[in-house]
Amino acid sequence: MTKQFVISSGHGDKVSGAIGILNEHNEAKKVVNRVYSILVDEYNGKGYKYHETTATNQNQNLANIVSFHNGKTRDLDISVHFNSASASATGTECLYYDAKSLSAKMSKAMANALGIVDRGAKERKELYFLRNTSKPAILLEVCFVTSKKDAAAYHENFEDLCQAIAKVIANELGYKKKVTTVSKPSVEAPSYYKSGTGLYRIKKNCYAYRSVIFDKENRVELCQKGTKYTIVAIVKYGSTYRLKTKWGMYITANKEYVEKV
Ligand SMILES: [Zn+2]
Repeated sequence: MTKQFVISSGHGDKVSGAIGILNEHNEAKKVVNRVYSILVDEYNGKGYKYHETTATNQNQNLANIVSFHNGKTRDLDISVHFNSASASATGTECLYYDAKSLSAKMSKAMANALGIVDRGAKERKELYFLRNTSKPAILLEVCFVTSKKDAAAYHENFEDLCQAIAKVIANELGYKKKVTTVSKPSVEAPSYYKSGTGLYRIKKNCYAYRSVIFDKENRVELCQKGTKYTIVAIVKYGSTYRLKTKWGMYITANKEYVEKV
C-alpha cells in the first residue's frame, strides 16, 4: 500500500508567524501547496495538506494542527516554517524528535536548492508539533524571513526548493516519479524565452511581480506595452519561465507578452 504523508504550514491565518522581509505563514502555505501538488501530481504520492485558519491563540493553533495530522492515516508528518533572527542569520534547518537522518537530508536538500548554508538537523524534543504528532515528524525551517539574502534566494529558487523538498519526502516514502506522456502541443501552447539576458520590450500589458509566484499580492507594477526592461536572468518556475529585471522584479518570459530587443 502506498505510504501517506501529512504536510501543513506553521502558524495560522489568525495566529501570525514571524514577519520580516517574508511573512512566514504566507510563504509556508505556498511551499506546502506546491510540495503537495508535486507529490501527488508528479510523483505517485498520497497524502493530505493543511492550513490552520480558525484559532485565535497559539495553543489552539498548535492543537488544531496536531489533531489534523493525528487524525489521518499516514507515515510521515511535515510542518513547514521559516526562521527568524537578526538580519545576518542565514541558512536552512530541519528540526526533529527522532527522525535525525531524514532531517539532515531535508536540511541539506533545501540548502542546495537555495544556495544558502546548511545549518543541519536539530533535535527539538520540546516542540509541541514534534512531541505530539504520533508518527515520525520533521519541522522545516526553510530560511530566515529576516535575511535579505535568504528572501532573495527563496524567491529566485522557489520551484527548485519545492522540488527538492518533495524529492526527499518521495525517497523516504518510496514514491516514484510518474512517467509523463507528452501529448502533441496545441497551437495555443505558450512559448517562452528560456535564455538570453539584455533588453526586452513589453508586447502586451502585463504585471511585474516581487517573486516568481505570480499572485495578485506579489504584483509590483503594471508593465505597459512598449516599455523596455533590462533582464539579468531567466528563472524556471514549474514548466514556465520568468524574466528577472535588474531591479529584482519578475515578469513573464511568454513570447506573447515580451520580445527581445
Ligand atoms: Zn514558525
